Amino acid sequence: MSGKNVFQKIIDREIPAEIVYEDDKCIAFKDIHPAAPVHVLVVPKQLIPTLNDVTSEDEATLGHLFIAAKAVAEKLGLAGGYRVVINCGPDAGQEVMHVHLHLLGGRKFGWPPG
Ligand code: 5GP
Repeated sequence: MSGKNVFQKIIDREIPAEIVYEDDKCIAFKDIHPAAPVHVLVVPKQLIPTLNDVTSEDEATLGHLFIAAKAVAEKLGLAGGYRVVINCGPDAGQEVMHVHLHLLGGRKFGWPPG
């Protein structure tokens, strides 16, 4: 049995996803349970389980995710703005142990988040 997490399986094309962007360092695909009209997950190809596992060696990888998120937002027409979220650990409701940005757009968001 494969020990890969679900995002690694999407990266490796073992399960399908609606991919909207990909380069050598990351992939972006539509969330299967969208919380907004646009809900894309931007995922590094390198496995980092949670934000608590990040080290200074991951600086370029994480910086790249934000540059990719901006490119995806532009591609998907989110000129009015968007929200980027990273859940870390159980209190934030992190389900998939592979660091990722949620890119949410297409509606207004409240603050503070629920
Ligand atoms: P987290 O709670 O870990 O920050 O977010 C994980 C996200 O991954 C959730 O929003 C969930 O809907 C999404 N997700 C879980 N499994 C799959 C899947 O198989 N395909 C896609 N496209 N999204 C998934």
